[in-house]
Amino acid sequence: MLEWVGLANIGYIQVVRHCNHFCGFCSNPTTPYTHTFESMKVLVDDFVRRGYFGVILTGGEPTLHPELPRICAYARDQGLHVRMITNGSRLADPEFAREMSEAGLQLVHVSVYSTRPEVEAVLRGMQGSLPKAFAAVKNAHEHGVEVNINCVINKLNADHLHENIEYWIEHHPYIRHFVWNNLDPSMGRAEVNQAEFTPRLRDFEVSLFRALSLLYKSGRTFRVEKVPLCYMTEFAWASTETRKIVKGEERIVHFLDQKQTVRQTDWEHIYAGGCSHCSLRTICGGLFDRGNGYDPAELAPVFVDRDAIVLRILKDETDPSYRFKSLAAWRADFEQRCQETLEGRAEKRPAGAEEPSRDPNGPGAMARFSLNGGPAVGQITPEGQRLYEAKRRAEAKKADRLGVRLERAELEDK
Ligand code: SF4
Repeated sequence: MLEWVGLANIGYIQVVRHCNHFCGFCSNPTTPYTHTFESMKVLVDDFVRRGYFGVILTGGEPTLHPELPRICAYARDQGLHVRMITNGSRLADPEFAREMSEAGLQLVHVSVYSTRPEVEAVLRGMQGSLPKAFAAVKNAHEHGVEVNINCVINKLNADHLHENIEYWIEHHPYIRHFVWNNLDPSMGRAEVNQAEFTPRLRDFEVSLFRALSLLYKSGRTFRVEKVPLCYMTEFAWASTETRKIVKGEERIVHFLDQKQTVRQTDWEHIYAGGCSHCSLRTICGGLFDRGNGYDPAELAPVFVDRDAIVLRILKDETDPSYRFKSLAAWRADFEQRCQETLEGRAEKRPAGAEEPSRDPNGPGAMARFSLNGGPAVGQITPEGQRLYEAKRRAEAKKADRLGVRLERAELEDK
């Protein structure tokens, strides 16, 4: 099977899994696994060997790892574009922002769910995080680190995504790129607190459209993840899954938990019956299926020009990561990739098993698979286990106080 190596492949390393915030929908909460510089270095080297463009250091809260500046500098020295996703609590310290900048950090995604302090406090499980996030944004910018804003779409911010954008444009006009992730209800605390935080797709449709329109008119760029194209048809070219489907890009995530390394190459998820009539079916990631948090009945086919969306992605000068620029060349490449995907699925199925169901009530698509034989991701040491157990006891009390449920324990089924 062909190995797709795109210029824009960016890998993720979870450097820690603990955090100083307590979001009720955290999909990557505390585990007993820990990383040393050496165990992170192996993963960086693997991305370099694969010809990846960049690495995103994430968590948990990555700035809580004492060797974050060192691994950042190492990755940069290897030629990777180095990015980080953070809640901003430590970057609020100008000294730390300077240290990360000098270590070679090029881009930081500061995660802010709502610019309404009272909403952000509920979502973060703590007071006072918003001023720190604003300070982090300012510090990073002043030290020459490009700033993007990340936002998880959830039930509590679904109605004012556009209001957040108005705030950012007015108060931090230098921020030029925004990323939305619709909540992933399949893992961690998000899985056990679905009723409190998972939005209906229609809850955010209007506000997301207004937010994207504001950004588009102001000349800013954006990406949206885990939102079916029928809920963002006018901006379908900004869908992360669609761009990856069109260009055949993969994504490797080194999870610091039992999942270890996951290589995502098949960006399709689950579809409704009506999707088969939809003109965007071949470039749409469908409904993010895991966790059964979303309802396929919310999907509705659209009848717009698919090729116009494809062309827009192919000719995007801000993202020149795909070698075919003409529609004819793309079609030939795309058809070949689709064929290889089908053959790959058939190869992975046990003898006699049927094609996995794409029915909304079926088991879902094979959207990702683990890399067998890849490098180990972190380790469980006696000290790591002890710290994990202490953290979990403290978080159980916090969850109780905040009225949210604690995630299932890592390794509990072993
Ligand atoms: S109807 Fe289905 S294929 Fe069409 S945009 Fe919606 S989710 Fe995608």
